[in-house]
Amino acid sequence: MKYVSVIGAGTMGNGIAHVFAMTGYEVTLIDISSEALKKAMATISKNLDRMVSKEKITEDTKAKTLALIKTTSDLAQGVSQADLVVEAATENIDLKCKIFTEIDAHAPVDAILASNTSSISITKIASVTKRPEQVIGMHFMNPVPMMKLIEVIRGYSTSDEVTSQIMELSIAIGKVPVEVNDYPGFVANRILLPMVNEAIYALHEGVAGVKEIDTVMKLGMAHLMGPLQLADFIGLDVCLSILKVLQDGFGQPKYAPCPLLVNMVTAGKLGRKSMEGFYSYEAGSKVIKVSAAFA
Ligand code: NAD
Repeated sequence: MKYVSVIGAGTMGNGIAHVFAMTGYEVTLIDISSEALKKAMATISKNLDRMVSKEKITEDTKAKTLALIKTTSDLAQGVSQADLVVEAATENIDLKCKIFTEIDAHAPVDAILASNTSSISITKIASVTKRPEQVIGMHFMNPVPMMKLIEVIRGYSTSDEVTSQIMELSIAIGKVPVEVNDYPGFVANRILLPMVNEAIYALHEGVAGVKEIDTVMKLGMAHLMGPLQLADFIGLDVCLSILKVLQDGFGQPKYAPCPLLVNMVTAGKLGRKSMEGFYSYEAGSKVIKVSAAFA
């Protein structure tokens, strides 16, 4: 494999492009928004600078990594040479089906098509292509350059050969892959999101405040980040769509998203990416304060 196309240049896409380029792959980063592409390149550059200042990489590696990443808004052209396509666009089933139909029409016939979806069925995504045995989940964790895990999800038709190739590739880019089967939320989000949702219910019902809930989970359970801060970090819209997939997929009320989460997403309070969620954020500052709505 030499050419990797990454679709979606948001929170995850820029990190995925960063990791592949740093291992020497030629990356084409694709997004409908030219603003998102510009922002992604600035983020990659900033993250590489941080690695240089910590002496993890040299200036030369930084320059070589950036030189390996091209950007485009033309999906058909952007995937035309790909050995592997990793889709990391917005978490929406109709959008992902539309994107995979288009990738299937324009990527080389032997290319492997992967989705970074947090929860949408790989089997469903594969069903819109003519190569379901070459469609697989590569669920990277956020922030991609730092987190070791890739949940590798086998759809119903994914072949053994494609699964082994992706397991090996994941190791080659410095990650630790874990193979799982295709059921709603896979493993990571089936376990994580009900905990996040329960923390939001605890806040909504007045059991405790934002800081208190996060402190209990950080100090009591040795979590690096409390569940409400983590929800802000993931994006509240992403959290909501994962819970809806769990609710629809299992048909059980225990996965119903907390009404407070629904309200916050409707109001555009999406967490860190919109500068406000359970906490409020200031550009360029690491200090976070409990959002005025919950103070
Ligand atoms: P995001 O909102 O930060 O970025 C999504 C990007 O997709 C945007 O830049 C948008 O312009 C682009 N996009 C939308 N439609 C497109 C199209 N038709 N063609 C090309 N680009 C398009 O989202 P994100 O948080 O990076 O999530 C991306 C995927 O990764 C989702 O499937 C999500 O579930 C998954 N994921 C997210 C996290 C997380 O912590 N945020 C973790 C693991 C997996």
